[in-house]
Amino acid sequence: MTIREYTRHITDTLQPLYDVHEAAAVAKAYLQARLHLPAHELVLRGNDTLPSPLIGQFNDELLLLQQGTPLQYVLGEAEFYGLTFKVSPDVLIPRPETEELVNLIVRQHRHSPTLRIWDVGTGSGCIAIALAKHLPQAEMFATDISEAALSIARANAKANQVAITFAQHDMLDTAHLPFGDTHFDILVSNPPYIPAALRSTMHPNVVAHEPHSALFVPDDQPLLFYEALALIGTKCLNPQGSLFAETFEGYHEELERLFLSQGYNDFQSLEDINGKKRIIFVFLQPINDERLWIRDERQSILDNL
Ligand code: GLN
Repeated sequence: MTIREYTRHITDTLQPLYDVHEAAAVAKAYLQARLHLPAHELVLRGNDTLPSPLIGQFNDELLLLQQGTPLQYVLGEAEFYGLTFKVSPDVLIPRPETEELVNLIVRQHRHSPTLRIWDVGTGSGCIAIALAKHLPQAEMFATDISEAALSIARANAKANQVAITFAQHDMLDTAHLPFGDTHFDILVSNPPYIPAALRSTMHPNVVAHEPHSALFVPDDQPLLFYEALALIGTKCLNPQGSLFAETFEGYHEELERLFLSQGYNDFQSLEDINGKKRIIFVFLQPINDERLWIRDERQSILDNL
């Protein structure tokens, strides 16, 4: 069978699950990754015959795709912020909206001479590792409740050649912080935030395959993780520190109230590429004259959206 014929075969097989464009995109992305070919080569080599020893593996993996396993879990890797990350069903697949969170921090802090950052609930490690790559002056820390996730994050840090201090910690355990008296300039987090009631409205691929502990919150406590983050920040952020987090789009007024009531100042929220309020960043102290560059940089980010 040729590459073109097999691309077609995958597309046809996946069509009950995806619309034709998405099925074709999955087929191409799968074959590019497995044949180590850039997109244009896949087209140019369309008439090449597939190496027969690979066809058995391809058919097995096509079955997984057909059962709704996300492509990144089948391949065992995902792209995020220009880097490659190992992923498994123990960690959430990195999402584009989280790249925007990373981008915001990189832009705001690329000129900060020193930085200490804690990624709370790191999962695959994608936020901490992308920040470590792009803010080489930063001393990076990352925690997760899941040992399985931490072992993936450690492997990802090694593969991407960055040094990160990892520790196992449940972010809801605000009485015990994992890094002692260490203080941070930035706390960053993409905690679980989808209200459980929305489960039935989500794509079956996500619900059936990604870790629920990284996605969902109880309907009666939707801000659970932000309450914990706010408290952690009051204990271990430097006075001039800030907290960045990805959030559910529906709760920004409640989040603003929560952070202001905990003693934070200057609550900001930003929309993601889909126009949903997705990112918050909160400063512990009001921005004073010496730090006006933060305000300028923020304004330029908002102007460029
Ligand atoms: N943005 C993810 C999604 O919509 C959710 C990530 C999270 O809960 N932190 O699937």
